[in-house]
Amino acid sequence: MLNKDAKIKRYIINTHPKVLEVHDRRNQGSYCHIKDIIKSDNIKYLDCISKKELSKWFLKNPDYHGCIHCLPDFAEKNKKILP
Ligand SMILES: [Zn+2]
Repeated sequence: MLNKDAKIKRYIINTHPKVLEVHDRRNQGSYCHIKDIIKSDNIKYLDCISKKELSKWFLKNPDYHGCIHCLPDFAEKNKKILP
């Protein structure tokens, strides 16, 4: 069940030091293992609304990358910085 904040908290961050990955709930698939992240203590939500704001967030948090499945624009190898 998604709570009422689900729309705002679209992006989920896996803060595990070996992972540091951001997922997009609108795009999530079973390969994202969102449920496992939620069950763990390594979860944070991002309040970004637009991809542009997310892009800024990645600039400030260069250790993180987007999930290759649900957020390929920000995946490690092809991280795009929007203008
Ligand atoms: Zn994902």
